[in-house]
Amino acid sequence: TYVVMENCIKCKYTDCVEVCPVDCFYEGENTLVINPDECIDCGVCEPECPAEAILPDTEDGIEEWLEINQKFSEVW
Ligand code: SF4
Repeated sequence: TYVVMENCIKCKYTDCVEVCPVDCFYEGENTLVINPDECIDCGVCEPECPAEAILPDTEDGIEEWLEINQKFSEVW
């Protein structure tokens, strides 16, 4: 799965949401998250993000953000 990180907070762009083929972004008041159960790992969103806030879960130190994405994508 891909994961939305801290740089997304208060970002005004939703370029990633527009390109996602499975619509797995969820929007909160200040940020977006990706539902890891719905993301198909296509990678299309990563280069579209102007804030460079999206990374694959293979990056080091991403576990905390992965949990945040999982948790909030279920409540938003
Ligand atoms: Fe959507 Fe693909 Fe990005 Fe996953 S990697 S959030 S499926 S655009």
